[in-house]
Amino acid sequence: MHTIEERFWDKVALCGRGGCWEWVGATTSAGYGHIWVQGRLEYSHRVSWMLFNHEDPGALCVLHHCDNPPCVNPSHLFLGTHQDNSDDCCFKGRNKVPCLKGEDHPSAQLTEEDVRICRMLYMDGWKQIELAALFGVSQPHISSIVTRKTWGHVQTRDCSAKGRHSNQNGGNNSSAKMTETKVRIARMFYKNGFSQRELAALFGVSQPTISDIVRKKLWNHVH
Ligand SMILES: [Zn+2]
Repeated sequence: MHTIEERFWDKVALCGRGGCWEWVGATTSAGYGHIWVQGRLEYSHRVSWMLFNHEDPGALCVLHHCDNPPCVNPSHLFLGTHQDNSDDCCFKGRNKVPCLKGEDHPSAQLTEEDVRICRMLYMDGWKQIELAALFGVSQPHISSIVTRKTWGHVQTRDCSAKGRHSNQNGGNNSSAKMTETKVRIARMFYKNGFSQRELAALFGVSQPTISDIVRKKLWNHVH
């Protein structure tokens, strides 16, 4: 018995145009992929959204930014209502709810510091879906942050790693610029193979500071 993940990945080609992940399994006449899930026929892009966001979009539709029906790349998908796109929608019989998921409290789970980090990483080339996983919120939530639809009052420093020169902004040995959130992220990135030098550039501190952080000589109260 194969899991839904196995059956899903078996039918995805990761090399479509424009970064699309194209469904190579059965499709509808309109080109949308479909797959059986617990005795129910579901759109494969909808299943993709659920697998990556770990939640059921419920009555909402999963729509494409890329207008490519067979695409199941989660970073090309977003939640919307039936009215948002009548062609790109749920199977019949679902309720229509006239608001986007989370619109009421789209920023409730994040802090201002999280928002700054999120925008900084986005400028640095991170994908919205990766940021969503990192911060534990949905991709549309991240989208609203990086496009400044929410948290518009939070100023973002110009701190993309690529534009940084260590002598200007962080050549000293202080870890004062670090916050608990940044420390956690730095340690997580370090475990995931980032070099200390890359992390120093990303957070605007010196490499010895990063070294002390990842070895817990600094910020050892942060877990
Ligand atoms: Zn796509």
